[in-house]
Amino acid sequence: QKILAPRLSRSYIAGQFTGQKKANGNYTVTLIEGDGIGVEISQSVKDIFAAAKAPIDFEPVDVTPLLIDGKTTLPQEAVDSVNRNLVALKGPLATPVGKGHTSMNLTLRRTFNLFANVRPCKSVVGYDTPYKNVDTVLIRENTEGEYSGIEHTIVPGVVQSIKLITQPASERVIRYAFEYAKSINKPHVRVVHKASIMKLSDGLFVSTAREVAKEYPDVKLDFELLDNTCLRLTADPDDYKNVVMVMPNLYGDILSDLSSGLIGGLGLTPSGNMGNKVSIFEAVHGSAPDIAGKGLANPTALLLSSCMMLRHMSLNTEADKIEKAVLDTIASGPENRTKDLYGSSSTQHFTEQIISRL
Ligand code: NAD
Repeated sequence: QKILAPRLSRSYIAGQFTGQKKANGNYTVTLIEGDGIGVEISQSVKDIFAAAKAPIDFEPVDVTPLLIDGKTTLPQEAVDSVNRNLVALKGPLATPVGKGHTSMNLTLRRTFNLFANVRPCKSVVGYDTPYKNVDTVLIRENTEGEYSGIEHTIVPGVVQSIKLITQPASERVIRYAFEYAKSINKPHVRVVHKASIMKLSDGLFVSTAREVAKEYPDVKLDFELLDNTCLRLTADPDDYKNVVMVMPNLYGDILSDLSSGLIGGLGLTPSGNMGNKVSIFEAVHGSAPDIAGKGLANPTALLLSSCMMLRHMSLNTEADKIEKAVLDTIASGPENRTKDLYGSSSTQHFTEQIISRL
């Protein structure tokens, strides 16, 4: 099979940000506050960044969808802001179910070609769950698969949704996984798939991985069926500590929520959407309409996403400082934890406690 994409350099992963500092010594980052709890958790990030004196000026943008020629589009100012700043922090965006506009999350990923979604999941020391020391990372193909948006009604009562897998998109995300595995010193890539059933689509993903692996003789490659991964990950997550998982789009969506469940829920898991030029960092969770506006939201996932963002920008000192304050606050007891972590703290009290530990 012909390998199309150019080889990526190692710096592609760590500190790849190439934006310019402004005269005041700060970087500008586009901020998409998002829907539902997005406003509350974004406020928490802004307050904590200000208190930590992180050298970031947030540039808020509106991403209310525009319908142009029947197609969902982003407002041009938002696109320009992200292209200018090269990095964005994003709250959750709600998507109508079964009707209405295309997901703005998908639109953002497609607009900026954010092809790899990196989702780490790590136990919080001091917050006990039935699983100890979970430390997983999965990389989700972010542009096609079951999310290609190609759906047809064949005849009334019969519909078809196309799962699209291409060699170039598979190759770039798999290559990213190999580079990422090397950069975090876990030279082992595991492809999660269902090629036993989807012989052509997942089969292409698997065969592409075999080809890419030839360029990485120092990185171990193995394969696992998705159902087996679900079983083994919940039975013994320890087995996944030194592995970087990579998989087609939908499997990554599902498996990352499963991983979140192992460590205490969606309030804790961050992610980065990586492209060749632009990167957008966001929590794994959605807009949580059931708790929006009530001061109950846990901002940890967005805060940890913002720490991923700082590391991407080579601002490791600030990332370490904020991350430590967040994790120490959670470990300090239920009075300082939000309700999703069986605590009694409001979003604001939790934020103040983090600031007091910076
Ligand atoms: P959700 O993640 O919003 O919520 C699932 C459950 O987890 C809810 O009970 C919610 O209260 C809880 N939860 C989630 N985040 C939390 C937090 N930070 N603190 C405390 N509790 C939290 O999933 P959903 O209800 O299926 O989706 C709601 C909307 O979000 C939908 O419109 C969906 O399309 C959208 N969504 C957006 C993204 C994104 O922007 N990347 C991701 C997933 C879902």
